[in-house]
Amino acid sequence: MPEKMLQFTNLEGKMPAKRSAKQRRDDFAEIYGDYTPKEASEQASRCSQCGVPFCQNHCPLQNNIPDWLQLSAEGDWQGAYELSAQTNPMPEICGRICPQDKLCEGSCVIEQSTHGTVSIGAVERHLTDMAWENGWITPITPVQERPQSVGIIGAGPAGLAAAEYLRVQGWQVYVYDRYDRAGGLLIYGIPNFKLDKDIVKRRVQRLEQAGVHFILNTNVDYAYMQTLQSKHEAILLAIGVYQARNLGIPCALNGQYPKSKPIKALGFLTNANCVGLDGSSLDEKTNTQQVCAGKNVLVIGGGDTAMDCVRTAIRQGANSVRCLYRRDENNMPGSRRETKNAQEEGVLFEWLKAPKALRVDDKGGLVLSAKQMRLGEKDASGRQSIEEAKAKDKEYHVDIVIEALGFSPEDLHDLHPELTLSRHASLKVHPLSYETNIEGLYGAGDIVRGASLVVWAIKEGREAAQSMHTYLLTKER
Ligand code: FAD
Ligand code: SF4
Ligand code: SF4
Repeated sequence: MPEKMLQFTNLEGKMPAKRSAKQRRDDFAEIYGDYTPKEASEQASRCSQCGVPFCQNHCPLQNNIPDWLQLSAEGDWQGAYELSAQTNPMPEICGRICPQDKLCEGSCVIEQSTHGTVSIGAVERHLTDMAWENGWITPITPVQERPQSVGIIGAGPAGLAAAEYLRVQGWQVYVYDRYDRAGGLLIYGIPNFKLDKDIVKRRVQRLEQAGVHFILNTNVDYAYMQTLQSKHEAILLAIGVYQARNLGIPCALNGQYPKSKPIKALGFLTNANCVGLDGSSLDEKTNTQQVCAGKNVLVIGGGDTAMDCVRTAIRQGANSVRCLYRRDENNMPGSRRETKNAQEEGVLFEWLKAPKALRVDDKGGLVLSAKQMRLGEKDASGRQSIEEAKAKDKEYHVDIVIEALGFSPEDLHDLHPELTLSRHASLKVHPLSYETNIEGLYGAGDIVRGASLVVWAIKEGREAAQSMHTYLLTKER
């Protein structure tokens, strides 16, 4: 055991400095700063180098965390980066936006023993940012050029991870996306204050420089799919999930519909993200509007998307922002860290409230009535169930209601009528090979798993690519 490690009894766990809530409310810049190399080394040295590293077991990518923490503690940043890049094609992105409290850091042994977790995500981010600055992230060089090609539909993290692994093997890679930029939800969903867009762009540029072709502004339907099937030896579907779930409550909007209709979370976030992007945007008309400025805003939902909406509304200059969630803070599905950030920025939380009805008042404002809920027993997932409590409904008078209730897949049969789907209408693939019921057609990311996390999309993109590589080799013979 190197002397440097095991410092958790001497050194307190410390996250990188965070900008003050007051500063954060006024712009969309990232909220966390970076460690100095000394701080990052010290924080890495808190690791106790567990024989059975639970952090690694709870990282979907199975990152070799203890070893790159040790190299970081010793100041071998390049070595640490190279090790971390062996399992993760975008460590600086995961370091920024993984809900570490629910993954690696939540299972860290010294967190469990109440000493406070090793800040794994922040160290991962630090060493990869350093690698970019120092030119240690080298161009992708294919092991050999191969004439066969693959088509990847969807340029989100699953598609980008697969593109990198397939290109390294020398296949000709074509990525199709209906948006005008590659990145999927990394660009058009997750706000800049969590993930600066330039960080995503430089990853896409690296793929372009390696010869990956991006065919953007291209919605793939069944007709186009048939063309792609005749053009490419194998295809990966990495199209994410975009069908927003509805409130499903009575809405008496007195003919003022659609002006007073609840706004869908993703449309709201996409437009907000477009404001920060230079050049073209998806919808010029709405992009320039700061829709929440001066308004009283109510966001319904308790996941990552809801947290991103409330914090975006604050930055747009909303008068007040409330988040309505049917369980309590302990049972929220999103990251605790992000909920705390939202609270610091001035978001008010209405726990244990479930929407009941929406109407328009005399002045044209919206009135949402909500039922009081209470918690019951824990279900199979460990979250407590909820039931209606005997209490008076509460009314919220607001200007804007944003629905952030999760996403389901769009109809996959529009893409290919013969695809086999799972019970939840997502794409059914073989659990090891990621192949669908159609030969040569693979699936990865949210479209397979349902709305999930970037790190899972990367893992599945990586594994599907490995399986596609094996399949392509059999076709090559
Ligand atoms: P996506 O990122 O959705 O990419 C799919 C791509 O496919 C898109 O670019 C889309 O345009 C394209 N596409 C779809 N259909 C077609 C078609 N027919 N033809 C052509 N192109 C098509 N995860 C985290 O880990 N941390 C977070 O903090 C976090 N925050 C989130 C915040 C929001 C608002 C949302 C919505 C999600 C968040 N997530 C977060 C989840 C994460 O973004 C997703 O799990 C991840 O992006 C899924 O990756 P993917 O590649 O499967 O799909
Ligand atoms: Fe933790 Fe995510 Fe990094 Fe894995 S990829 S070590 S879960 S921050
Ligand atoms: Fe280090 Fe925590 Fe992982 Fe143990 S669980 S190896 S202490 S980071």
